[in-house]
Formats: sequence, C-alpha cells, structure tokens
Amino acid sequence: MGKVKPVGVRKSIATRWLIHGLGFAISIIIIAIVALSFSIKTYIYNSIESALRGRSDEMISNLSLRAEKEAELSNTLRDYVRNFTDKNELEVTAFSVYGDAIASTSGMSNISYEGFKDMEMAMYDPDNFGNWEGTNEYGEKIMAITRIVRDRNDKALGAVRYVTSLEKADRMISQTIGLFISIGAVITVFLVFSGIYFIRSIITPVKQISESARIISSGNFNVRLNKKTDDEIGYLVDTVNDMAVELGNTEKLKNEFISSVSHELRTPLTSIRGWAETLASAQVDEETFKKGLRVISKESERLSGLVEELLDFSRLQSGRLVMNMVKTDILAELDEVVFAFTDRARAENVKLIYDEPDILPYVKADANRIRQVLVNLLDNAFKYNKEGGEIKVAAYSEKGMVYIKVSDSGIGIREKDLPNIKKKFYKVNTMIKGSGIGLAVSDEIINIHGGSLTVESIYGTGTTVTVTLPGM
Ligand code: ADP
Repeated sequence: MGKVKPVGVRKSIATRWLIHGLGFAISIIIIAIVALSFSIKTYIYNSIESALRGRSDEMISNLSLRAEKEAELSNTLRDYVRNFTDKNELEVTAFSVYGDAIASTSGMSNISYEGFKDMEMAMYDPDNFGNWEGTNEYGEKIMAITRIVRDRNDKALGAVRYVTSLEKADRMISQTIGLFISIGAVITVFLVFSGIYFIRSIITPVKQISESARIISSGNFNVRLNKKTDDEIGYLVDTVNDMAVELGNTEKLKNEFISSVSHELRTPLTSIRGWAETLASAQVDEETFKKGLRVISKESERLSGLVEELLDFSRLQSGRLVMNMVKTDILAELDEVVFAFTDRARAENVKLIYDEPDILPYVKADANRIRQVLVNLLDNAFKYNKEGGEIKVAAYSEKGMVYIKVSDSGIGIREKDLPNIKKKFYKVNTMIKGSGIGLAVSDEIINIHGGSLTVESIYGTGTTVTVTLPGM
C-alpha cells in the first residue's frame, strides 16, 4: 500500500508522542536525577559535618573541666592534637587565643587562623561553631569546622579546627549521580523503543485503514482489510470492512432500484404513448377510443402511485414525513382496505378470507398512513401469491396491543432474504414489478406509531406479516 499523508494533518501521532509523551517523561527523569543528586550531596555533606561537630563536642566535653586557664589549655590542646587517633582522616589544628597554631596533626606550626572563614564564623556564633567548604591552597576540596574553646566566664581561650578532604565524598557522589544517569538513560531507551513499537502498531494499521477508506470513498467497495489485533484497531478494521460491504450492497441495490424504477416508469409510459398515438389517428371506433382512455387513465394512476411512493420514501429519509396522529378506528380502516381488494381477489382467482373481529381498541394514528401500510401488505400478498392461492387477514387485541396479520399462501421468502426485505430498495426477484421500498416505508411508518412490523415466511409455502400497534 502506498504512503498516505492525510491532507490537513500537520503533526503525526509519532511527533505528538515525541513531544508530549516522551518529552514529558524525559523531563521528569531529568528532574528526578537532579533532585536525587542534590539530596545525596546534601545528605553526605551533612553527615560529614555532623561527624566533625561530634568530634568537636567530644573534645569540648573532655576539656571542659580542665580548660580553666589559658596556659593550661595550651598544654591540654597540644596533648589532644598529639594523641588524636584519626589523623589519616582528619587534620586537627589547635589555636591559641591570639590566633597562632599551637599544635597541628599536619605538623605545621606557622598556621595562622587569618582568613579562615569558619574561624570568623565561630567567633560570632552563639554555639562557638563555624563551618566552611571550599578549596585549600593545594586545590583540594575540603570541609573545615572550627570550635572556640571558652572558660566558664565565656572568655575565649583558644580554638580547635578540624579539616577533612571532600574528595572521597565527591567521588562517591559522582558515582551515585552516574548510576542515576545510567538508570535514567536505560529507562529512556526502554521508553523510546516501547513507544516506537507501540506507535508503529497504531500508525501502520491506521495508515492502511485511511488508505482503504480513501479507496472506498473513490467508489471501490471491494477493498477489505486484514484484522490483526482484537483491540480498538481491530474493531475499527471490522467497522470499515462492514462499511465497505454495506456501501457495496447499497450501491448494488441502488443500481437495481434505478433500473427497476426506470422499468416501472417505462412500461406505463409506453402504453400511454401507444394509446395516445392510436387515439390520435382518425379511424378509431368508439369502443376502442373508450378502452384507450381507460388504459391511459389506469396507467397514469399507476405512475402517480409510483411517484407518490418515491416521494414518501424521500420524505422518510429526510425526516419530513409528517404524521397527523388522531384517535383512529383501526377496525374501520382495515374493513375498508380489505373490501377494496375483493374485486382483485376475484379477478386474480385468489381466496381472500377476512377474519373480522367484533371490536378492536382505537389507536392513536395517522389513518391515511396506516391505510397505506395495509394496502402495501395486501398488495404484496397478491403480488407474491400463487395461482388459486389464499390470503388471510386477521386482527385481534391482546394486553392493550392491536395485532393485524396478513398471511398468504404464496411463494414465500428464503431465510437468507428475510432479514433484508425491510431494507430500502431490496427485492428478492428483480424481475417482478415493484420498487422495493414499500416494506421499508411501511416499517418506518409503523415504527413512528410506536409499533412494529414483523415478517415470517416459509419459502414455497407462504408469508405472514404482522403489524403491532399500541391501543389507546
Ligand atoms: P416491492 O415494491 O418490490 O414489493 P416491498 O418493499 O413491498 O417492495 O417488498 C420487498 C421485497 O420483499 C419484495 O420485492 C419481495 O421480494 C419480498 N416480499 C414482500 N412481501 C412478500 C410476500 N408477501 N411474499 C413473498 N415475498 C414478499
């Protein structure tokens, strides 16, 4: 099948999915990675900071009793630094109150607190505590914590500074972020592939369906689609196939209808023209003249009946068939219609049996339309009857409903045709006179009255049509 780019489609489903679906999912993944990375970093830095604080708290509680005097404190701090166990992990430096380093695990004695931000912070901090993160003179990322040591009168006696490298922590953070990014990338790749697979499974059949619909719209109703899945797409495929079948049937019926209507119109017209030409010639005796006029009149009547039927049908189709619903004596209407057919029964050698009920409830109906339906049913019963056949008309009421049955002993209808005969233009035998819309119109009229029209038939034996109407 060729490629179709439907007119007016600017964004395909794939593009929309790319922008809305995938774009949204990737944004969420990126936001999640950034948020997680920040949380991890904050968590690790906070843990390091509280570990350092813990150390300084430990130190203060060890010194507190002894750290009364500045001189004594210097010695104590020196001892503390010298005996500090985690020298590999932490660099500890003790400062005198004047800012000189008095001992350091790094061994440097010329360190001054000048410029240490954590030291400045600690001096003004009510908890005697200051912290700082940054790069040292060797370009190494560090975290420093300074604790001011005070006597009981809150006089500063000195300070201890703890410094730890953040390189290991940063490496761990980078590895974790790397892991998050990898997971995010795997999820994205999975989303892309599953999305492409999913979109393809929609786009490919949709393209095929629209191509078929285009072919159908160009008048070729023989296209059929292969149903591959049992989902919404499969349902759409079924619907399009059904539509093509229905359109094909309607097209066939329409063509048959046009040819049968043309035939119906041509027969009386030929007869009228023939007689008109005959009558126009001078040598016509009176009897032939009268016969000619009778034929012309009968044939014109047939023509107007057919035109009336066609008009009714078109009004029904466009919903313009207006019903004049009034309280109607349905029994009187039925009597009249049956009576009107008695002559035809005699002429066609058909036995017309009328099982007339004593009484029938009134119905709310358009009497003319109901008569039209009854005439159509009886006309069919005659038209599709056999020589010397029988037609039975019966009526009764039950549970507030009125039933009228017209049965014939005619040719009957095959089971396969039965569901179609109420459809417009449908004729079992296109050679027999008729437009194929009588039953369609009758059915519609009875439906508008809130009733139903059912057809039962045994092929070769006869047909029974039942009209059911709600009584008043
Ligand atoms: P038509 O004008 O062709 O009779 P209808 O709509 O009245 O159109 O009927 C549709 C078709 O149903 C007919 O062409 C005929 O094949 C079938 N049909 C209707 N009534 C009968 C019947 N009583 N017996 C057999 N076939 C019938």
